[in-house]
Order: sequence, then structure tokens, then C-alpha cells
Amino acid sequence: MEKINIHGVMMDNVTMDEALGFVVERLDGPGIAKIYTPNSEIMMQAQRDPALKDILNQADLLIADGAGVVLASRILRRPLKEKVSGIDLVKRILENTRTRPTSFFILGAKPGVAEKAAINIISDYPKAEIKGWHHGYFQPGEEDGIIEKINDSGAEVLLVGLGAPKQEKWIHRNASRLNCKVAMGIGGSIDVLAG
Ligand code: UDP
Repeated sequence: MEKINIHGVMMDNVTMDEALGFVVERLDGPGIAKIYTPNSEIMMQAQRDPALKDILNQADLLIADGAGVVLASRILRRPLKEKVSGIDLVKRILENTRTRPTSFFILGAKPGVAEKAAINIISDYPKAEIKGWHHGYFQPGEEDGIIEKINDSGAEVLLVGLGAPKQEKWIHRNASRLNCKVAMGIGGSIDVLAG
């Protein structure tokens, strides 16, 4: 995949179809793929926080959420093909379960919200299996138990909505002990899916 350098953050220059293709490939691939969709605010924050910039640059797929990032790429004369927002990609992954049934674990949002999102998902996408969920307001001491719950669930895709950059830092820190195939930071998308 072609990379586009936006102030030192190496974005993947992909269309929505290409991003979905990458996810589908990784469902049956080795190891875990880390996917982040930074908006312009997070891109700005990465300028002041080299550790965050590093985390973004170690993503397996880094795509532009928001027109601001696409605009920045045009101003820098290295135009990204299109905006591929987190919520849109999540919806495409869910739609794709019709051809490739997929299992999910939802981590994040306020207590009760992930359950609502799970109910909506299984009614809209019968081939999406929700293996479990956990709210996003846990203490550091609870983290090991949550990781065990995710791994025991056997979910292929972990959707993490802890807000940015908390979710990117969480995925980066824990990726090596997660057994899922894809871990994706999805911001407020759990609230959107809960309706
Ligand atoms: N959130 C969470 N744990 C936290 C902080 C936030 O689970 O410690 C959730 C919050 O409930 C919301 C999501 O993270 O569902 C995204 O929050 P926000 O819209 O503020 O972040 P953004 O979409 O801008 O990344």
C-alpha cells in the first residue's frame, strides 16, 4: 500500500474498497492487524506527542477519518484517494459478514451502550456474531481480566471505542497479547451503532 506523509504521519492511501479488502485478508492471515482512523485533531496531537506519532506509524492500516486529513493531503500536494471514516469502514466490515461470517468483541462506551450496539448489529447483520463486550470505563487493574475475556471469546475482530488517542494507545500496548485478527480504534462508533 502506498503511504502518504502528512507531517510525519504515514497514512495509507487507500479507497474504502481497498481498506475492506485489507481487513478481509487479515481475517485469515497471521497475527493481529492494528487499524486506526485518526482525524485532523489527532494528527495535530501527534505533532506534539512523538509517542503518539510513533504508535500511529506502527499501525498496519492507517486511514483518514474526516475531510480535514484529506484536505491537508491535497494542500501538501500528496492527495489521499478518499476519506475512509472509522464508522463507514465498520459498517462495510459488518455488511461483508454476508459473504464472510465474522465474529466481534466490542470494547468501549458507557456501561449498557455496547450491549445495545450488539443487539442492533445482530438484528441488522445476522452473520455478524458478537462474542462479547465490555464498557470502556475500567480501571488499569481490570485490564488483564478484560484481555482474558476477549481472548476466551475467540472473536476475530476487536472494536475498541475508548476515544482517541486512548484507544490507539490501548491497542498498541496490548496487541501482542490479544488473539484476535484485527483490532480497530473506532472512537464514538459504538454510540452510533447503539442508535
Ligand atoms: N470512552 C470510553 N472510555 C473512556 C473515555 C471515552 O469508553 O475512558 C468512550 C465514550 O463513551 C465514547 C467513545 O469513547 O463512546 C468516544 O468518545 P469521544 O466521542 O469523546 O471520542 P472521539 O470519537 O472523538 O475519539
